[in-house]
Amino acid sequence: MNQAPLAPVRRPGASPDRRRVQRHVARPVRVRLARPVISFTFDDFPKSAATRGAKILEAVGARGTWYAGCGVAGAHTQYGEMFDAGDIARLAGAGHEIGCHTFSHLDCGRTPVDDLYADMVRNADALATMGLETRLVSFAWPFGETTATLKDGLPSRFTTARGTAPGLAEGRIDLAQLPANALFGADAQKRALKLLEQALRRKAWLIFYTHDVAARPTEWGASTALLERIVAAAFAAGVEMAPVGEVAARILAVDASTHP
Ligand SMILES: [Zn+2]
Repeated sequence: MNQAPLAPVRRPGASPDRRRVQRHVARPVRVRLARPVISFTFDDFPKSAATRGAKILEAVGARGTWYAGCGVAGAHTQYGEMFDAGDIARLAGAGHEIGCHTFSHLDCGRTPVDDLYADMVRNADALATMGLETRLVSFAWPFGETTATLKDGLPSRFTTARGTAPGLAEGRIDLAQLPANALFGADAQKRALKLLEQALRRKAWLIFYTHDVAARPTEWGASTALLERIVAAAFAAGVEMAPVGEVAARILAVDASTHP
């Protein structure tokens, strides 16, 4: 459990596959938003995201999405101490969304569909055992990896599956592979502020993802200052910050009313 391969590493030679899978649109929908919206998402996830990360969002009345993979619950990984039942209860109680990230952090690019379904159920059961009462409607592909078959076979309980391909969610999007922008790494602040400016101008849905939140984060985490800076910039610009499930429901409602 301590050696869980959580780092979002790219498989060697995976790029051509990834482009083909990305182009396979399984759940098309058109984004029509009256105003831009941002979703902050946290994958895996360490306690630092559930505490520091949540606090930064809550300070401005914002809510986010935490994609839990229960195989590492209570364990220690390279991100530090991972979430436990108490974190799930506190996040859900505060109005944040808990999403599914498989139980075992499966590389879905290499997982038979039945194994994936069994692992999703195992994760839902584990979260229910931890006391989560809300329905899981949002999924995130571990490592951002998936296949055309799995996208087509995304269980209907999930309204979205988030990937890790960068960009804004605007125009015609695929709910089975939502884009997400890394809130970590080199130039993260510059990239994030530019995306925020583009989302504002184009009334788009901007999704960020990160892992730990710390003064000195891992290479896949956000510094506390970085998250504070981006949330403050969004708040100053009057941009709503809402969980993925909530935004997806809104987009689907508008889509249904324009295409009955
Ligand atoms: Zn992950």
